Amino acid sequence: MANFYTDNEDIKFHLNNPKMKIIVDLKERNYKITENEYHDSDGLSPDDLKPHNYEDALDNYSEVLGIVGEICGDIIDPNAESVDEEGPTLVDNRVHYAKGTDENMLALKQAKLTGMTLPRKYGGLNFPATAYNMAVEMVSRGDASLMNLFGLQDIAETINAFADEEVKKNFLPRFASGEATGAMILTEPDAGSDLQAVNLKAHLDEATNTWKLNGVKRFITNGNAELSLVLARSEDGTKDGRGLSMFLYDRDDTVQIRRIENKMGIHGSPTCEMVFKDAPCILIGKRKFGLIKYVMALMNGARLGIGAQSVGIAEAAYREALKYAKERAQFGKTIDQFPGVYEMLTDMKVKVAASRTLLYETARFVDMYKVYEEIEEERKLTLEEKQEMKKYKKRAGFYTPLLKGLTSEYCNSIAYDAIQIHGGTGFMKDFPVERLYRDARITSIYEGTTQLQVLAAIRGVTSCLFTEMMEEYQSAKVAPDLEYLVKHLKEMKNEYVEAIKLVEAPEDNEFLDFHSRRLVEMAGNIIMGHLLVLDADRDSKFKTIAEVYIKKGQPENTEKFNKIKTIDRDDLGMYKALSV
Ligand SMILES: Cc1cc2nc3c(=O)[nH]c(=O)nc-3n(C[C@H](O)[C@H](O)[C@H](O)COP(=O)(O)OP(=O)(O)OC[C@H]3O[C@@H](n4cnc5c(N)ncnc54)[C@H](O)[C@@H]3O)c2cc1C
Repeated sequence: MANFYTDNEDIKFHLNNPKMKIIVDLKERNYKITENEYHDSDGLSPDDLKPHNYEDALDNYSEVLGIVGEICGDIIDPNAESVDEEGPTLVDNRVHYAKGTDENMLALKQAKLTGMTLPRKYGGLNFPATAYNMAVEMVSRGDASLMNLFGLQDIAETINAFADEEVKKNFLPRFASGEATGAMILTEPDAGSDLQAVNLKAHLDEATNTWKLNGVKRFITNGNAELSLVLARSEDGTKDGRGLSMFLYDRDDTVQIRRIENKMGIHGSPTCEMVFKDAPCILIGKRKFGLIKYVMALMNGARLGIGAQSVGIAEAAYREALKYAKERAQFGKTIDQFPGVYEMLTDMKVKVAASRTLLYETARFVDMYKVYEEIEEERKLTLEEKQEMKKYKKRAGFYTPLLKGLTSEYCNSIAYDAIQIHGGTGFMKDFPVERLYRDARITSIYEGTTQLQVLAAIRGVTSCLFTEMMEEYQSAKVAPDLEYLVKHLKEMKNEYVEAIKLVEAPEDNEFLDFHSRRLVEMAGNIIMGHLLVLDADRDSKFKTIAEVYIKKGQPENTEKFNKIKTIDRDDLGMYKALSV
């Protein structure tokens, strides 16, 4: 029987990253049992649930991930084709999943995997984001559309981070038990990339002292969820993000699901248009902080999830391409023997490894700051701990859009090449690769398009944060046979610094925006190159991967640098004139 955890050693390799120790020690409060740590109603003692030390915690993650891997291999992956064909249906204002999706959801619920990151006291598993996203990666490899339902655990996590204790006690166990799924309700017809334009109204009904929602939302994944977070305009007369608040909506009959979209891919995931008519809801956190604080946190978690989804789809596409290339013979040889094909296969394998290492580095940054935020709820942090929290929050803010933007584009190019390797067969619906190609397409669009990720990442890649990361990576001690790769990466960094100077010289934001994708991709090549070298230092199997990635990345960066040198500020006029 297939197991998506045990058949992919690279996931365990990242789980065993030495940097996990500090995260897990903090997450488990040095393995001491604290007040209210467990879920009283399940009858288990804290001793049954809490790991006793770091090794015990890692074994526990590994065991749970093994269960996820088994469900993916035995249930989710075999169901993917029928889910893609059948899709969800809308009957009497209720969305019904495809039969296979129901089976998948039941298996995940029965294995208690629906509240992985929630604290144990609400029935969760207290997983760090790093280990949870390993589950998201595997689910996505099995069926990318299911990840959209499984990955909505971010909703519960946002409630846990910002709601008051009463709301948490009332609602979080419903997520953890699998009784409730979630939805993240932000987008409207006139508010897509620009969420400041959200216009769905929230008003406080004085008679009942209840907030009510009125308006239309569109493109909402799992809009039929039992529990949703809704971004709405609570402040009359405002027009920007400061007039928006976040609300928890517990499904009743005041919301009409007008339609389910007919989509190119991720067919198993219902994308809904919804009309709110005096829908009662609960304010989460403080008024006016909806977009600027809570939704930003929610979307950062979701973007990390799309990074994991991209890696999962890419892994599946690479495996399909490799299998096909080893079996298909032309001109008397299997096609994997031809340079035109093996170059593509190697490129795919290297991009998957680069995406994965960036994914788990980003997840560790997220874990580091979040664990300090959790501890801050319990006690005052020391000055040093506060500084650590701030440092990792900044790093997470920089790497999350970088990850989402770059890995989703890699995922698309890997799925494209996987079709190419299948030749005409790839264009037919007979092989999973056709579905993977369609499913891949959404990763660079939702949760903020690549263009928006680039705008979010550009601040990081042009700031001292990038320099700080470079210093850290460059000063890490690696085996002598890897040092020449670090030398190449230093050359790439020097060229990159020159590129930044050119782009910043005119002091013109439009010019910076124009070259921003090139700069972000250049920075990504350098960062992922360093991460692969560090991986190679821990396991020599990554050495050739790092070599190929850097040998390809260096000329790619030089090409981008040359473009930046060639297209100067005055040329923007030509681009504008021709685009109309
Ligand atoms: C299948 C699916 C599921 C979704 N699920 C959810 C969900 O669960 N919840 C939710 O709230 N939303 C959801 N969405 C909405 C999704 O997040 C938006 O579609 C996405 O953010 C883009 O917004 P838009 O479609 O309005 O495109 P637009 O914002 O109109 O963008 C169109 C184009 O303009 C570009 N663009 C826009 N602004 C800029 C800029 N400043 N600089 C450069 N380029 C720019 C974009 O990159 C894009 O290429 C989903 C969408 C889809 C398709």
